[in-house]
Amino acid sequence: MPTVFADISLSLQQNSSLLIGLTLLLGLLLGSFLNVLIYRLPKMMERDWQADCLAMQGQTAQAATPYNLMRPRSSCPHCQQTISAGDNIPLLSYLLLKGRCRHCAKTISPRYPLVELLSAALMALVSWQFGYSSLTFFAWLLCLGLITLTFIDFDTQLLPDSLTLPLLWLGLLFNLNLGFSDLNSAVIGAAAGYLLLWSIYWLFKLCTGKEGMGYGDFKLLATLGAWYGWQMLPAILLLSSLLGAAVGIALILSGRRGCDSAMPFGPFLAIAGLVALFFGPQITRLYLG
Ligand SMILES: [Zn+2]
Repeated sequence: MPTVFADISLSLQQNSSLLIGLTLLLGLLLGSFLNVLIYRLPKMMERDWQADCLAMQGQTAQAATPYNLMRPRSSCPHCQQTISAGDNIPLLSYLLLKGRCRHCAKTISPRYPLVELLSAALMALVSWQFGYSSLTFFAWLLCLGLITLTFIDFDTQLLPDSLTLPLLWLGLLFNLNLGFSDLNSAVIGAAAGYLLLWSIYWLFKLCTGKEGMGYGDFKLLATLGAWYGWQMLPAILLLSSLLGAAVGIALILSGRRGCDSAMPFGPFLAIAGLVALFFGPQITRLYLG
């Protein structure tokens, strides 16, 4: 058996097309799981908060049907019919069903295949850039984490601690021996990332009386600092601010958003984090020489 694994390992090392092909398949599968995570994690958090509120009032929550990442089975949001395993194949089922529910024929959101495709594409890019190495494995996890956080923040303006904090620790562990940064820079990056946005938050709040962002944003920049080291923070902050401002202005001009309505900042931080993953050395060389 070990020789089989050794053979597979050797084939993946020598054949980058095989590695990228398998990564694409794995990315579609994991993207399908991310769809569940993006949809259910905020709902699970909401249930926990409600139970906590009831507990503080001395009441106990009524035993509800289990709701977690495994149960209940996925169902159509329109007709509530359980989706069979055959209709739940990433991307393929969406294409075969022409984007409609088999039972009620209502449209399935194109976001599901989009998340699957995005996961597959980014993971394949990582495999292409870093090859068959442990670096690739860690970078996959970072990509999947950032995709999940982007969509959850976009939907709910939440960046769950249950995702940002493990990702932050993983970044520090990643930089223990191999990684994108030395450990000193990573530890300073995590602290500085948090402190930087925390300071901006309080400055903005003292000047305007408004909250410009949430604590989840501080933790996300801390996470990126932990992965890339403090040297990358100015570039990430600049890029995410520019992106956020451009999208915000475009939305206001198109009348889709008012000047005062809040916009999540997490997706822009995550996009800047992904840019840093693929172009990190070039970016730091630009301003650090
Ligand atoms: Zn349906």
